[in-house]
Amino acid sequence: MTTVGILGGGQLARMLALSGAPLGLRFLVMDAATDACAGQFAPLLAGDYRDEAALAEFASRVDVATFDFENVPAESAEWLAERIPVFPSPRALAVAQDRLVEKNLFRRLGIPVGDFAAVAARSELEAEVARIGGACILKTRRLGYDGKGQFRIRTPADVQGAWDALGAQAKTVGLIVEAFIPFERELSVVAVRGRDGEFRTWPLTENWHVDGVLSASLAPAAIDAALAEAAYAHARTLAEALDYVGVFALELFHRDGQWLANEMAPRVHNSGHWTIEGAETSQFQNHLRAVLGLPLGDTRVLGHACMLNWIGEMPAAAPILREPGGHWHDYGKEPRAGRKVGHATLRADNAVALAEALRRAGSALGREAQVAPVIERLSG
Ligand code: AMP
Repeated sequence: MTTVGILGGGQLARMLALSGAPLGLRFLVMDAATDACAGQFAPLLAGDYRDEAALAEFASRVDVATFDFENVPAESAEWLAERIPVFPSPRALAVAQDRLVEKNLFRRLGIPVGDFAAVAARSELEAEVARIGGACILKTRRLGYDGKGQFRIRTPADVQGAWDALGAQAKTVGLIVEAFIPFERELSVVAVRGRDGEFRTWPLTENWHVDGVLSASLAPAAIDAALAEAAYAHARTLAEALDYVGVFALELFHRDGQWLANEMAPRVHNSGHWTIEGAETSQFQNHLRAVLGLPLGDTRVLGHACMLNWIGEMPAAAPILREPGGHWHDYGKEPRAGRKVGHATLRADNAVALAEALRRAGSALGREAQVAPVIERLSG
């Protein structure tokens, strides 16, 4: 009996546990929150990631460890890796935790990125905004997610406001200023690499965000084949450089027929949730296969799929359940503003049928605005 330990007990851990059940796997989830939603399906060890006694108990009860949460302290991941197999490696985790280290690695690997610079003082921010020219975004280097810890600088006059908002964090989590990319589209490569180096990607996914949080994903993205190949090659280069094991996502901006990398997520990713019903093998199952050294499953897409995120509270399920290709995921969380509480996936054999399903479900749910950009893309 193999037990997989997961650091972090949110919806990603929950979906990992659900997809691991047919493989006969057991799970142990560690989270500081005693009501973490993965705990509804797997034993939960409530504890702080920095607490060595809790980590020691965790290590004694699992055969291999992985992550639902990318901001587990790197030292805790290293402490564990000295005792049990940990995938992805603490090094890969550490790179992905720091936007500056990550962007420097992208650049070194020839993965295109927009202009950026580290800033430690207000005067440096002012100088870098002037050097970059045009709109920028000030971000925390570490611990930011879903658009949190970010400030848009539209003109140099916004520098003061940006520094007031985030300047205090220059000494704690560090700051990075990036050129604002007026992208045409946002896409992600969700990919998996096995312990033996085997590499696979799901087809490119197009993503739409609202207030920095993912709202909808569409796969396969309609994109030029050569451009798609370039994106997969960037993901592969990155995975090999990090000797990465497991699933990860590479988030990309598309502009003027070119890619600019935004960031990587060292874990299963929200933009890959559609793979549960929309691909031969889901990102969750393949992540488990990768960390356990099992053969990877086929990442082939089954028709066309769109995932809609439910933020704050769950809408009515019936309009999705009524659809022939409608699939419902309620994470069992308490509703709270801004919180990801569930998602739905609509799947269809062709783009026309998917657009029709989205139109029906969107109007029945009063979510026309959420589905509109996806329908427009499918109709284009
Ligand atoms: P992040 O936390 O870096 O993934 O940012 C969240 C979202 O903010 C992204 O998915 C983009 O929609 C937007 N964003 C972040 N950085 C930039 C940038 N440099 N230029 C334009 N949009 C950005």
